[in-house]
Amino acid sequence: MGVAISIENAVKRFGKDTIINGLSLDIKPGEFFTLLGPSGCGKTTLLRMVIGFNSIEGGEIKVDQKVINNIPTNKRNMGMVFQNYAIFPHMSVRDNVAFGLKNRKIPASQIEAQVDEILKIVKIDHLKNRMPAKLSGGQQQRVALARAIVIHPEVLLMDEPLSNLDAKLRVEMRNAIKRIQQQIGITTVYVTHDQEEALAVSDRIAVMNGGVIQQIDTPKNIYQRPANLFVSTFIGLSNILSGKISVKNGETSIQIQDYTVPMSQLSQEVKDGQRIKVSIRPEEFIINQADGAGIPATVKSSVFLGITTHYFVALADGQEIEVIQNSDIWDIIPDGSGIRLAVQPQKINIYTEDGNKNLV
Ligand code: ATP
Repeated sequence: MGVAISIENAVKRFGKDTIINGLSLDIKPGEFFTLLGPSGCGKTTLLRMVIGFNSIEGGEIKVDQKVINNIPTNKRNMGMVFQNYAIFPHMSVRDNVAFGLKNRKIPASQIEAQVDEILKIVKIDHLKNRMPAKLSGGQQQRVALARAIVIHPEVLLMDEPLSNLDAKLRVEMRNAIKRIQQQIGITTVYVTHDQEEALAVSDRIAVMNGGVIQQIDTPKNIYQRPANLFVSTFIGLSNILSGKISVKNGETSIQIQDYTVPMSQLSQEVKDGQRIKVSIRPEEFIINQADGAGIPATVKSSVFLGITTHYFVALADGQEIEVIQNSDIWDIIPDGSGIRLAVQPQKINIYTEDGNKNLV
């Protein structure tokens, strides 16, 4: 089921600019793999290297162990879906989907059945005879997806396929894409700069910045254990606090102002007094009374959002942070209240002071 893709030390230059500099990653057969990162980090460039629109200046791209660097795009057996749909405006839905089959010299007698099957999978069989101008954005993207998968490619590549859709349709379409990918079991590489979309659809995510992989992991691990401060702040909301390590009588703890949190097992070696950055998600704080345990803080303002309430609070050193609580278990805490913010040790991520390494 599906093919494996292996990228080894890939290099891409445009003129003097090196956009991808020795990048490696492995994608498993049938995996939904997402390249996620800020605009300009090289996601599209890498995707275009996989399909062969971009040449490779160094390293190798392999499909099931076979190097494909010099194989032209039309021999790679890959389907691609673009942000702007790229469907033919003068052809009906049926003709758009049948196009690739005709190109591959599939007998006319088989084309109709194959088109019908794929249109059912992407749930637009009732629109078979429509022209693209009479379709919504979501329907057009379903046509583009049908056209990419009707040729039974080994790999499906998608470059920001939902960017042109409104927010509600994006959620509907990302669920549809995920379902279809699982149904046909095709190895999929998906590019997005939308972190929620990446968390929702992916088996694994590669977070990129400046052409360099920052972390490759499952959505849950990326969110809960970001490998460095870049990933921590790029994915979801993070409060970054300064602190230090304390090692006393063989017991390790971290200190954030006068709040001490015991940390029984850190994966990396640490020294007493070592300065650290601490990252805590807004929803992981426990709000205590001013005389309880935690970091002293003052509520500056709050926003009630139904399920949750967001508090903007100031710490003693003036830093402002965000705290999110479930609304139903708290009365809204008035502005100006003194509180303390506690957190469970396992909900904390601790980084070297330069932010490059997670010590947990
Ligand atoms: P976005 O989310 O905005 O699409 P991206 O992560 O996909 O961003 P790329 O499109 O891969 O980023 O671009 C990465 C860098 O490579 C950018 O600095 C871009 O200007 C540069 N670049 C891309 N294509 C070319 C090209 N054909 N010639 C020269 N530079 C290019």
